[in-house]
Amino acid sequence: MDTDGPICGCGKRGCLHVYASGGALARRAEIFLADEILPSALKTGKKPGRVTGEEVCAAAAKGDVLALDCVKEAAHYLGIAAANIITSYNPDKIVLGGPIGRIEGPLLEMVAQVAKSWSMPHAYSAVSFGQGILGDSVGALGGACRVLDLKLSLASSVPPPSPGP
Ligand SMILES: [Zn+2]
Repeated sequence: MDTDGPICGCGKRGCLHVYASGGALARRAEIFLADEILPSALKTGKKPGRVTGEEVCAAAAKGDVLALDCVKEAAHYLGIAAANIITSYNPDKIVLGGPIGRIEGPLLEMVAQVAKSWSMPHAYSAVSFGQGILGDSVGALGGACRVLDLKLSLASSVPPPSPGP
């Protein structure tokens, strides 16, 4: 998203993950909470480092001003990423996965609106948006499915054994 951006867990700079993951939402919320400019229910009983991305999304769903600002920022980056995928690959559906993808709230609609602004119109008109259902297991399950796909394609490319004498 930004080659001069913050360092990501992968070692590179400015990845989508540093702007729009659950951890990114939590970090952003804690910065806003420390500034004490915006009112928020997230302050109640929380020590620094204890806010989660899921809590930020859930608070945004209830209209929490600070949480909505955090979700809006994440949606901006997710929407631009989705727009690039939509325009490049013309998918049928964009699914927001992981823990924050399961939370009911404004994130999905905000992402769709940003994506609409930055996608080619014909590609955007063919795509729908949805919430993932796999939560924390999405990465592991995707990896397992990829291995199975490779294993099955290898199995189907092996010629049948020749008949014996
Ligand atoms: Zn990264």
